Amino acid sequence: MLPRLFSFNGGVKPDPNKGDSTREPIARLPLPPQLVVPLHQHIGGTPRPLVGVGERVLRGQRVGGADGNVSSAVHAPTSGRVIAVESRLMPHASGLSAPAIVIEPDGEDRHVEREAFDWHAASPGEVRDFLRDAGVVGLGGAVFPSHLKLNPGKAGHTDTLVLNGAECEPFITCDDMLMRTEPEGILRGALIMKKMLAARQVLVGIEDNKPEAAAALKAAAAALGDTSLEVVVVPTRYPAGGAKQLIRVLTGIEVPHGSRSTDYGVQCFNVATSLAVFQALEQGEPLIRRIVTVAGNVERPRNFEVAIGTPIGFVFAHAGLKPDTDKLIMGGPMMGMPLPGVDAPVVKATNCLLASSAALFPPPEPELPCIRCGECARACPADLQPFELYWHSRSRNFGRAQEYHLFDCIECGCCAYVCPSHIPLVDYYRYAKSEIWARERDKDAADSARERFEFRNWRAEREKEEKAARLAARSAAKPAAAPAATDGAAPTADAAVDPKKALIEAAMARAKAQKEAVAAKNTAEPDAAQQAQIDEADARRARAAATPDSERTE
Ligand code: SF4
Ligand code: SF4
Repeated sequence: MLPRLFSFNGGVKPDPNKGDSTREPIARLPLPPQLVVPLHQHIGGTPRPLVGVGERVLRGQRVGGADGNVSSAVHAPTSGRVIAVESRLMPHASGLSAPAIVIEPDGEDRHVEREAFDWHAASPGEVRDFLRDAGVVGLGGAVFPSHLKLNPGKAGHTDTLVLNGAECEPFITCDDMLMRTEPEGILRGALIMKKMLAARQVLVGIEDNKPEAAAALKAAAAALGDTSLEVVVVPTRYPAGGAKQLIRVLTGIEVPHGSRSTDYGVQCFNVATSLAVFQALEQGEPLIRRIVTVAGNVERPRNFEVAIGTPIGFVFAHAGLKPDTDKLIMGGPMMGMPLPGVDAPVVKATNCLLASSAALFPPPEPELPCIRCGECARACPADLQPFELYWHSRSRNFGRAQEYHLFDCIECGCCAYVCPSHIPLVDYYRYAKSEIWARERDKDAADSARERFEFRNWRAEREKEEKAARLAARSAAKPAAAPAATDGAAPTADAAVDPKKALIEAAMARAKAQKEAVAAKNTAEPDAAQQAQIDEADARRARAAATPDSERTE
């Protein structure tokens, strides 16, 4: 029986442009002369480097250790020598650099000892730790550490595991080709995750423009004979591959603004992530390679299996970058971001490298004022009001933008795609999000500085009090000395109670005694010797007064 399908609001139908890169099977790209492995390739903390310059590493060796639980490890993609641990250009529109391990391959591709992990016998926490240390993160683009999503939480179980094979964005075909070539590994990974989440069923969603992939997965599911696995073909409509949209289509569950699908018993993983889980646990292979679609303005569009850290220019060179290329994009034409240069490396998030030209993507038409036509709202699959988000982002009224659920925007680009005023709406949303994050970072930094300042003051105050208490205790331990020091002054009743006050009173008494001694000395009559000295000084002053200035020698 065909499963009942649901529909999500909005969406668009751009030209898929997927045919060129699926004509040839996946090719394994050779290793480049140098691999740049960024330490931070996922959501969460930056791993700490575990190797130094000059060290020899093996393929699959951990070179960056996860920074706490919300993080993920990174590994050497091949054997070789670490030639630098330094900041390198990252594949990000900002053009910023970040710490990376730079490895010179030795050509031997020697592997660390590989061992399957006995996940059946291990506790769920141990399996999650293993996946964290194997560097498994979401490969659909979000790069969220997978081990964190494989926790059923307080409920102890999840109803449905959704495997996302929709791959709705134009040009991108890496998941399509992976499903055709590795259907069994993908489904075995899904069954492992199903067990970890104690889920009832697994639904694999594939758009109907990938018939070969759907057939391969259906055949693999039949061979596995697990009736809880179901491969479901869904209508092609962008962005059916958005997690909330695919969940809606497959289960009918509408995840409201600000909520997570797990609140409704559904967890979603990309098909490539599922294969990575299988390879890590069953084959002991950490995440060191991925499939990358190379398409657009290239001579030989194709999918390549690429070692993480391979320079993007090296990948494009194998696909034959055409000379009239004017822009390089990581991702697809709807959600991708422009690349700052060909030296940036392929990372775990690199699903597609797209070369753009004026012929392929004509320059955008000039931006016109918003006419409030509402087309953007009709196209929004997240049921947002894009023109409101635009107004508030543009006027830097970020609080209002958040009230309109800015962070529920998945940056799919449907609104900008239909906007008759050619407003680059997503650019405004990205700007607003980055400003809000920057403000939060600044606020966190200011809060930390204030806490440090308050702590320092509290510590200084405490040290002062401890010192006073120590002195008081010492004074109390010498009761006989007290009368002499205070010139007979007895401590007051208060001082007897308060050691600090006793100390102050003792100090004041000592100062008073010293002052009185000096005054007594000054008023006492001189003895005979002192009187003789005084007389002689007087006589000297009298002689000096009688001598002319020019004769003085003093
Ligand atoms: S589609 Fe463009 S012009 Fe129309 S309301 Fe949205 S932002 Fe304004
Ligand atoms: S980019 Fe954001 S606002 Fe625009 S259609 Fe997509 S989800 Fe809606």
